[in-house]
Amino acid sequence: MKAFLHRLLIVVFLAGVSSLSLAAQGHFSGERALAYTREFVAIGPRWPTSLGHAKAEAFLRAHFQRDQLEEDAFTADTPIGPVNLRNFIVKFPGKKPGIIVLGTHYETNYPLRNINFVGANDGGSTTGLLMAIADQLRGKPNDGCSIWLVFFDGEEAFVNWSQSDSTFGSRHLAAKWGRDGTLGKIKAFMLADMIGDKDLDIQRETNSTPWLSDLVKQAAHKFGYDRYFFKMEEPVEDDHLPFVHRGVPSVDIIDIDYGPNNSYHHTAQDTMDKISAKSLTIDGDVFLETIRLVNLR
Ligand SMILES: [Zn+2]
Repeated sequence: MKAFLHRLLIVVFLAGVSSLSLAAQGHFSGERALAYTREFVAIGPRWPTSLGHAKAEAFLRAHFQRDQLEEDAFTADTPIGPVNLRNFIVKFPGKKPGIIVLGTHYETNYPLRNINFVGANDGGSTTGLLMAIADQLRGKPNDGCSIWLVFFDGEEAFVNWSQSDSTFGSRHLAAKWGRDGTLGKIKAFMLADMIGDKDLDIQRETNSTPWLSDLVKQAAHKFGYDRYFFKMEEPVEDDHLPFVHRGVPSVDIIDIDYGPNNSYHHTAQDTMDKISAKSLTIDGDVFLETIRLVNLR
């Protein structure tokens, strides 16, 4: 993703630290999401065209083999030439018409292929998050809308971030779903990016659909998570934009402030010790509650 440098400080809210009993019943298992993240990140760097990328694909394929898994393979026209990429879509049907899509990207950054960049937070944590959310959905009756999990490929730039050198997987899938009529059925698209950070501070992303951001805020409030959400607002270019541009209600749930002065972002510092089960619990709680709120609309 790409964030702009200007930031608008909305509220400086220094919350008194109260330890949340997140392990208490009724909370999402961030521990489980963290365990999945650890397993996935252990593959190592997974930049497109690498052996690690093929392993990441095999990992997702094996993990979701008993679910309704769809693979969306395509060749992207990138600055380094044609590259084979693959999105994974896991479908959990519901009784209500309409689809709620949760998304993340899973690959790592190609330009960082020489620095052992494993993307524990960037691509890793949200892959683990969606895998743990799948555990909450699998085998349970769903009276609400269908829920589809999408693991995007090719979010990162191959050379320099631009509209034509980024978000290859989401641009491909949004166009495809535009042609086959799927887009019109999507009630909400929620993107997760870089939200495993121990120091969680999720921005209000200003390209997102306002009512959907409001639902996220409402969901966070229910659990007393207000201090982790929307202290700042900022536009970010990310995998939600191809959906936003096609009129799909979309929100990018992202923490673009990673490490001191964002010093862990796109560096070899993006490792497992920087992310936490607690942050993933907060994320999972808020995603699941926002799904509930979308279903009530
Ligand atoms: Zn990245």
